[in-house]
Amino acid sequence: MSSDSKKLNETSPSSAAEAVMETHRSLGAAAALHLAPIREVRNPAEADEMEPLVRGMLEVLGEEPEREGLERTPHRVAKAMRFLTSGYAADLSEIVNGAVFDSEGYQEMVLVKEIEFYSLCEHHLLPFFGKACVAYLPGKKIIGLSKIPRLLDIFARRLQVQERMTQQLAASLEEILQPRGVAVAVTGFHLCMAMRGVEKQASQTTTTAFTGLFQGDRDLRKEFLSLIRDGGRS
Ligand code: ZN
Repeated sequence: MSSDSKKLNETSPSSAAEAVMETHRSLGAAAALHLAPIREVRNPAEADEMEPLVRGMLEVLGEEPEREGLERTPHRVAKAMRFLTSGYAADLSEIVNGAVFDSEGYQEMVLVKEIEFYSLCEHHLLPFFGKACVAYLPGKKIIGLSKIPRLLDIFARRLQVQERMTQQLAASLEEILQPRGVAVAVTGFHLCMAMRGVEKQASQTTTTAFTGLFQGDRDLRKEFLSLIRDGGRS
């Protein structure tokens, strides 16, 4: 028996509600995970103060920002960075609005596999990208399946570490659905590792977050992991 399930069995023998409470404690307060928008939506009509900074960086790199190929680069970089970090201004409740439904008694695992994501590592501002698999055990509510990739985008489009992004995705589903449990597994390929020549260039990083019943029930975790491993042919 893992320490997780032991801990849960001691504190909450069978109640799903108590298991969820345990989850909230173990994931930390939603505020600490930045589930709420942390920047206002920027008016795209205004000149972007990022552009002169990019121009300055080009100069420091020894380039000539005025040459033809680079002339519009500060504008393009600023625009790209704004898009790649648009998750800071995204509002969770706005995105799921109208897509949370009564589960009508459906109790089995809901699994969405291999959701693509692209993010930027906060240490080097270089991309990391890969796939996420998300499962939850409904309580009274279910969510429109197309919203799960959108939730992931909220957190991927920020400066990130994969560990936090994984937790944020789990915590956001907890907050929206109050399910009996959430499982998230993310596999990412980090260009800051690959491009900067750290030994294992092709290595991938996997992170997981389990809440509620997934935390306490080892068989359930195993079921989730086998479903995402073998393409659901179990
Ligand atoms: Zn990095």
